Amino acid sequence: MSRFFIKVFVPGPFFEPLTYASDVLIDAGVRVQVPLGSREIIGICAGKADTSEVLETIKSVVTIIDEKPIISRQHQALVDFASDYYLAPPGDLLLSSLPTTLRKGKPLPKPKTETGHNNSPTYALTNEQQHAIDSVDQKANQFQCFLLQGVTGSGKTQVFSELIHRTIRRGQQVLLLVPEIGLTGQMVARIQDQLDGELAVSHSGIADGARTKAFVASAEGIADVLIGTRSALFTPLPKLGLILVDEEHDGAYKNQEGCRYSARDLAIVRAQQTGIPVVLSSATPSLETWQQAELGKYIRLRLSARPGQQPRPTIRLIDARHDKPKDGLSEAARRAIRHAIDHDQQALVFLNRRGYSPVLMCTDCGWIPGCKHCDAKPTLHRQPDSLWCHHCDHRQRPVTVCPECSGLNLLAVGHGTERLEEALTESFPDVPIIRVDRDTTARRRAFEQLIQPVIDGNPCILVGTQMLAKGHDFRKLSTVVVTDADQGLSGADFRSLEHFAQLLTQVAGRAGRHGATGQVLIQTHRPDSEWFERILRQDYDYLATAMLRERQQFDWPPESHLALITARATTSAPVFEALGAIAHQIRALNCPVRVLGPAPAPMERRNRQYHGQLLILGKRSLIQWVLKETGPWAYKKQGKVMFQLDVDPWDLW
Ligand code: ADP
Ligand code: ZN
Ligand code: ZN
Repeated sequence: MSRFFIKVFVPGPFFEPLTYASDVLIDAGVRVQVPLGSREIIGICAGKADTSEVLETIKSVVTIIDEKPIISRQHQALVDFASDYYLAPPGDLLLSSLPTTLRKGKPLPKPKTETGHNNSPTYALTNEQQHAIDSVDQKANQFQCFLLQGVTGSGKTQVFSELIHRTIRRGQQVLLLVPEIGLTGQMVARIQDQLDGELAVSHSGIADGARTKAFVASAEGIADVLIGTRSALFTPLPKLGLILVDEEHDGAYKNQEGCRYSARDLAIVRAQQTGIPVVLSSATPSLETWQQAELGKYIRLRLSARPGQQPRPTIRLIDARHDKPKDGLSEAARRAIRHAIDHDQQALVFLNRRGYSPVLMCTDCGWIPGCKHCDAKPTLHRQPDSLWCHHCDHRQRPVTVCPECSGLNLLAVGHGTERLEEALTESFPDVPIIRVDRDTTARRRAFEQLIQPVIDGNPCILVGTQMLAKGHDFRKLSTVVVTDADQGLSGADFRSLEHFAQLLTQVAGRAGRHGATGQVLIQTHRPDSEWFERILRQDYDYLATAMLRERQQFDWPPESHLALITARATTSAPVFEALGAIAHQIRALNCPVRVLGPAPAPMERRNRQYHGQLLILGKRSLIQWVLKETGPWAYKKQGKVMFQLDVDPWDLW
């Protein structure tokens, strides 16, 4: 019997596929079961191996799972790029890009899609919408990146709908990426309403079986549109004609586990590899994207007004030094909420901090409990009663007696969403209060169920975290209160201000999208900050110009590129020693990049381990070269020190 040799991508720290023997030739992209060490694992065939270098001791493929490839050449090309750019093992990336059932070697299920309702819009497109659609359409079957920059509520989703319609008519498929599950519900319904075709949906909030069916429907060309979160980017779409990335500035596009890829950046790569247009949309583009549009590399399409003369919300600062918040809410905020409710409208109270209160303190001696495992203060939760560290997840019973002075006067200082909910229930006993944060939406579909009354237009007050800031179109919502804006102005990260400005603009954008003019109240102790003046103009270009100028001054991204090397161990000395050696090695390369550190991470002790970091700043190509010279980085370990590489980090934690 003739023996063949094939290459197989397997998970783990392998930068090249491994070689196996097989009685038959296996196509690239077919899943196989192979022995690895003492286990049998699922891998993906990478094609024929060069037999000249093959040894007699080579092991054989155990089972061939698929009849035909489930990975297309297109899919493989994208993984190859990502593997090279993020210095991640290709097998790891390829296998983690598959839905879990496929990764485990289960057979392909039958595809499943939902059929669009093919309804026509009830309004005519605005000139700006029409122009945006025509511009993208003109670039069909060519690579071009667009920035669809429209104020919140300016009708970006309608532009998406029309672009999808046209792409399907050409016989092509569309990939629409959205940042989070919370957003997906409404987006899916709105796209499905006008869709003349088949729709598949993929995100981590749906059952894995359903995700796999969406994968198959996309791969077989049955789904005309695939809507999904970042991992959906790695889905075979043989007739792909257009990629849309909604809310492109959102941090959810950055994978924070395993290979730290940016689905937004890879979407552009995929469009380029496929030779098709890609549209990044946002009211508050990331400075990276915004700069590319300024330079003319991306074509900027604007939606400058809300359709139907719907005015923008008015934004007002509340000086918390004078109108002192009681239970988190100033007098002015309470009046505005009452006014909204009395006029059959809804209100949203925003606080980006879950739990009951961020600090528990002994009022006799000032003692504050810390987390056993981190340099962090655990958050007090009431449902259930606990001191909960949001960094390592450690939970303990709340302290009732101070261990320092045996005092009994322990006070919850500051507010989280739980406490705000309590205060609102007391002040507005006649109005339903709906709290939306990670704690109330942990169950599958909980988010959709929670916000249904809001969508239905029932009177209510919403209170919650950044989950509420995004994309939602609540018709009756007229009033937004931002309870603690000081939080955002004092962030430690170079992107803090950008994220804060984006968040504020997005939250404000929920107010008054229909009917009554929206009203936004921002409580702050620092109303004189120049950044408020810039944010309040509601002119994102003006704000972005100022932010970019600041970044240029300090040579931070997007002026330069960044790679973050984090090291951790149970004691701090080996961390700094190891990072010091790497810094030395990089400097010895004599390459014009800047190396910052080693320095302690913003939270040095986290989850029982000490964290240190090294930052490399410079030109993208030089950083790539330096990393390759000093790699490999994946699974890197040195004694007891573990390393983690993040190319283009989103934040420096
Ligand atoms: P965005 O996605 O930019 O936040 P949406 O697409 O949600 O904005 O649009 C805001 C609202 O305006 C939606 O209710 C939508 O139905 C409506 N809308 C969109 N385009 C038009 C138009 N051309 N004329 C009237 N209303 C429109
Ligand atoms: Zn005490
Ligand atoms: Zn902790």
